[in-house]
Amino acid sequence: MRIIIIGSGVAGVSFAEQYRSYSTNDEITVVTKENAGYYSRPLLSHGFSRANIEQSIILKTFDTLRTNNINVFADTEVIEINRSDNTITLFCQESILQYDKLIIATGSAAFIPPPFRLYSELFFCLNSLADLKGLRKIRNEMMSQNRQPAWAIIGGGLIGCEVASDLAVSGDNVTLLHAMDRLMERQLVPEDSTLLLEVLQNSGVTVLLNQTVKGFSKKEDKACVSTDVTREFDALIVSCGFKPRIELAERSGLQVGRGIKVNQSLQTSDVAIYALGDVAELPNAQLYPFIIPIRHQAHWLASFLANQAADNWIPPNFVTKAKVHGFTATHPYCI
Ligand SMILES: Cc1cc2nc3c(=O)[nH]c(=O)nc-3n(C[C@H](O)[C@H](O)[C@H](O)COP(=O)(O)OP(=O)(O)OC[C@H]3O[C@@H](n4cnc5c(N)ncnc54)[C@H](O)[C@@H]3O)c2cc1C
Repeated sequence: MRIIIIGSGVAGVSFAEQYRSYSTNDEITVVTKENAGYYSRPLLSHGFSRANIEQSIILKTFDTLRTNNINVFADTEVIEINRSDNTITLFCQESILQYDKLIIATGSAAFIPPPFRLYSELFFCLNSLADLKGLRKIRNEMMSQNRQPAWAIIGGGLIGCEVASDLAVSGDNVTLLHAMDRLMERQLVPEDSTLLLEVLQNSGVTVLLNQTVKGFSKKEDKACVSTDVTREFDALIVSCGFKPRIELAERSGLQVGRGIKVNQSLQTSDVAIYALGDVAELPNAQLYPFIIPIRHQAHWLASFLANQAADNWIPPNFVTKAKVHGFTATHPYCI
């Protein structure tokens, strides 16, 4: 059997390795846009305070996967799924690969609110290792000119709070603007939001709640955010949630909602195609965009396709915590 996996995040790599442990004969191929290896996405939000992060974030090189008899096409984008003949089209090589089973593990991009899209060249996001490298580069340039960077983080959700905290403990000036009246209102009970606010403020973050961003602008080498007033910063990071990468599936006619629609066996509307990870939407319209359930999905799907499991995928119990320095929620968040 030829199995192709699109994506080399925790979903794609965990599936590939687990399936290989069941089958020595089947052909397993990972196609990924990444070029640096399989890395820890959660560590991105501690990417400023940790030394040597660009190396230590790599969990596994692609050559390590290859020694486990997993083919890897790195730095390669899948641009089409051709369901009529069970093939995918690759961008770089302009070549075609044939599959018997296709696993879509394309993850998610940063969500940019529509009114912000007009200004996309004025702000950054932190969603991938490439984003982190770009942000570290501009930070290092400022530091080499003896300037301690001043950042605005737009969005006080999980990742916005983590990034604000990490930049602040690294010594930078950080302002966090949030649209709501409390931080991480989707994940935390009000008492924990209050505690989180205190922790961030104590680490030097200026937190501005109830902020409606009306636009962005540039003034010489400064980037500006306008709410009721216009404030100047060295750089802006927009952190307003995530958006499953469904475009490829949608173009090929698979059923999509917020994510790619799958049944309880993680199978899409095409019997030869499965989806898992950030991109998969379960029948209860639920997404599971966290490491623990994603790894669980990957291991379950590998055993299912290797005829080692018959039951449907059942989400594990798990809690998740915000990696804000010095903060522990009294009521951890669970789906
Ligand atoms: C800053 C940050 C901090 C986080 N912290 C935590 C945390 O503390 N705990 C937690 O549980 N979760 C955390 N998360 C969420 C967690 O990292 C994600 O849920 C998880 O990494 C998703 O894994 P995935 O494999 O589904 O997708 P991804 O990791 O997004 O991987 C998808 C892969 O597919 C590739 N790809 C996409 N389209 C194509 C294409 N057309 N062709 C080829 N390749 C393609 C991408 O390049 C990427 O490598 C965090 C996320 C971020 C961004």
